[in-house]
Amino acid sequence: MKSPEPSLSLSEPHPQGVHAAQKGGFALAVLAVVYLLLAWAHLVPVNAALLAASLLGIVAGVIIYSLALYRNVPAGIKNNGVFTSSLTNRGLWGWVAGIVLTAFYVALYWFPETLGLGKDGNNTGLIALFDPLKRFFSGSNSTSQWFVYGTLYTVAILALGIKFMLKYRHNRYQLIRTSVVIASQLFLAYLIPEILEGLTTGQAYFAKDIKNIWPLNYYFFHDWHLNAMLEGGALGRLFLVAGIALFLIGAPVITYFAGKRWYCSWVCGCGGLAETAGDPFRQLSSKKVSAWKFERWMIHGVLALVVIMTAATLYGYFSGKSEIFGLSIYTYFQQPYAFFIGAAFSGVIGVGFYPVLGSRVWCRFGCPLAGYMGIIQRFKSRFRITTNGGQCISCGNCSTYCEMGIDVRAYAQKGQNIVRASCVGCGICAAVCPRGVLKLENGPEEGRINDNPISIGNDGIKLNGLS
Ligand code: SF4
Ligand code: SF4
Repeated sequence: MKSPEPSLSLSEPHPQGVHAAQKGGFALAVLAVVYLLLAWAHLVPVNAALLAASLLGIVAGVIIYSLALYRNVPAGIKNNGVFTSSLTNRGLWGWVAGIVLTAFYVALYWFPETLGLGKDGNNTGLIALFDPLKRFFSGSNSTSQWFVYGTLYTVAILALGIKFMLKYRHNRYQLIRTSVVIASQLFLAYLIPEILEGLTTGQAYFAKDIKNIWPLNYYFFHDWHLNAMLEGGALGRLFLVAGIALFLIGAPVITYFAGKRWYCSWVCGCGGLAETAGDPFRQLSSKKVSAWKFERWMIHGVLALVVIMTAATLYGYFSGKSEIFGLSIYTYFQQPYAFFIGAAFSGVIGVGFYPVLGSRVWCRFGCPLAGYMGIIQRFKSRFRITTNGGQCISCGNCSTYCEMGIDVRAYAQKGQNIVRASCVGCGICAAVCPRGVLKLENGPEEGRINDNPISIGNDGIKLNGLS
């Protein structure tokens, strides 16, 4: 197909044409989805190979579509049209997507039987569709809604992660970071846990995603989970020791040297989805000062709650009691945390509301691990974003696309280092800055926090508070 006639207008008001390859990629992804729907309705045969092929077909379709989309345009910032698209600007399609996603999460957490979860492995519907794949990994039919979710989650990060890399191909940091995001999800969160699950069939379940540490994994110290690790042989004890060591030593030490980005925007599953599937919605995060204040109360409040809940849990575990101060540990501590924070906040609101509140609602307002590392990042870390204020043209791209709602431009205009606790080091502010003002760096602690560098106001220009 002939390329669309190039426009001489800087603002490019003309809709871009759709290339034949884009149509081909779209058709391939749709065919794969149609096969899955037919298999779901038992109208075509299904086995592990066909399932895997159709999931890879979706990934291939998205890649072909994205290649055609970005191939004929120069590398660089590509956020054209985000504020005119109904999907990415809280329009009708944005709300439809938000409602569908939220409904899916509600079913996933609280009504899995509507997705086909049956008793004793007698699944139906969507969950039964994934039985052959589960059988391939573990030899059993014990597919749960979480296996289905994990598979779809991995497909989303793989397909949309590669699309993201094509979009930000001008930025080396994004290419390396997103490769790590994809590999972490594919191997650490999906394939390795599933293979280990298959090798330990018959043993009690414990979480085998080694990077999913407490307090993000809030049930790590719950009785059933601790017992499963302790009774899980060498593998169980390895996960127990690694989980504690990563939280106590690994997280603070790496955050000291590199900031919390090593986790939040490089290896975390929640962050991985936000950075890939959530990329079109990053501009929806609120930049209001009131949101920043709310954020600090919320994230540290959740951190306090998880510490209290876990302390009560460990007290119960070691004392053999089910109550603390006359309160049931399960009813008053574990269950409310699991319901309100573990399910409603991190899942339903955290992902379901991507098209309405932006992609990092959970990471910004709720994740207790982000809260813990954020305190270290703010007060005792070598990480900072340096700003070359003299180059800033105040376009505001950096603030607009900061998914954590940080008003990056306000720092850039003053030439002030950004050392905010909430910064996940995604590097998008630097990737969308047309002037190369921002740089993510690890350096000496000395001079890292420069509170009052250059201020330009009605009373003239001041350097470090002096005129
Ligand atoms: S300040 Fe920049 S690196 Fe930090 S979260 Fe915002 S966009 Fe990402
Ligand atoms: S994107 Fe760059 S030039 Fe634009 S406001 Fe931010 S720092 Fe300044």
